[in-house]
Amino acid sequence: MKQFRTLDDVDVKGKRVLLRVDLNVPMENGHVSDATRLERVAPTINEIASKGGKVILLAHFGRPKGRDPKESLKPVAAALSGVIKRPVAFADDCIGAPGATAIAALKDGDVLCLENTRFHKEEEKNDPAFVAELAKLGDIWVNDAFSAAHRAHASTEGLGHKLPAYAGRTMQAELDALDKALGRPAKPVIAIVGGAKVSTKIDLLENLVTKVDALVIGGGMANTFLHAQGVQIGKSLAEKDLAATALRIMEKAEASNCAIILPVDATVSFHFAANSPSFAYGLDAIPPDSMILDVGPQSTARIHSAIDDAATLVWNGPLGAFELTPFDRGTMVAAKHAAERTKAKKLVSVAGGGDTVAALNQAGVASDFSYVSTAGGAFLEWMEGKPLPGVEVLKA
Ligand code: AMP
Repeated sequence: MKQFRTLDDVDVKGKRVLLRVDLNVPMENGHVSDATRLERVAPTINEIASKGGKVILLAHFGRPKGRDPKESLKPVAAALSGVIKRPVAFADDCIGAPGATAIAALKDGDVLCLENTRFHKEEEKNDPAFVAELAKLGDIWVNDAFSAAHRAHASTEGLGHKLPAYAGRTMQAELDALDKALGRPAKPVIAIVGGAKVSTKIDLLENLVTKVDALVIGGGMANTFLHAQGVQIGKSLAEKDLAATALRIMEKAEASNCAIILPVDATVSFHFAANSPSFAYGLDAIPPDSMILDVGPQSTARIHSAIDDAATLVWNGPLGAFELTPFDRGTMVAAKHAAERTKAKKLVSVAGGGDTVAALNQAGVASDFSYVSTAGGAFLEWMEGKPLPGVEVLKA
């Protein structure tokens, strides 16, 4: 049974559809420099328009403090028109006369973009009066912005209590992929968690050890775990004050039958710089004035075989300082191997988070993964096992 309502559950013809999308695209000199997010929402917009719905786009852009022309959605709406190959009208306020007048003029199948919802401070407060103003503009609300679903704002959550609520196709694809990864996954499930610090990922680690069969810990955060176990880690990045937290997570993993896979060797350097000389050391021989910048060759082989043992992989965070060659090696080898296993239909692979997406792109394998989420904060909160308000409100 589906857990949430989708566009399959509603006839949009003739209806005013308030469609929450993610239009928070990068801009350079007033032009959209990366249209990925626009391409992602295009299928939902085109489907509703083709079925004769009146598409009214709601989105935020940046973090404006009140009305600010620099954070207007107008240029984004123009770029979107090129992507969806349809005219996109624009109204310079999301509530009040501008929006109402533009909506009254819409014919079935037309597309209108309303100005940045965050020009009103009531958006982020989920203010009931503001929600009511927005709700007047539509017959139904469709949420296609998974990346904003961890926030209970007026346009991302509040409207779902006022109007019949449905998931858009991009939201639906994201939720289906995430369900396959941690909701109802093929077992065994492995998670790879890397990145700089334990402190930003404590909730994530605590949740994962109760859900997965094996957890690979790499990156700077692995150093904190190694230090907690008494390994001399030299000048490596670590949060030594979190040693007790690391041990607690390991105990919780053991109690949950989750195998923790930590590095068994390290690639170290004496300089935090690209192309600085690198050396592989066993954990008993890390030089005191060196830094661990990547997992070592034996660890890479261990991770390789752990991926072979898994039917599902969830990945967040690089295994080393992947921006600096050659310290990208552990991350690149694991990414390419996971991609191969996915292509061979042996693995369902889901990855997300800004650095992880960058690392998979660097390895040239992002499109070979089963699903790559570009939703930073929302993806992490989902990995932490937290309910996402913008998703909860869609549940039937
Ligand atoms: P995060 O944003 O927490 O996922 O961390 C990603 C950052 O961690 C990247 O910029 C990596 O360069 C960095 N990183 C990963 N491993 C190490 C390491 N062993 N030493 C220093 N930085 C690292």
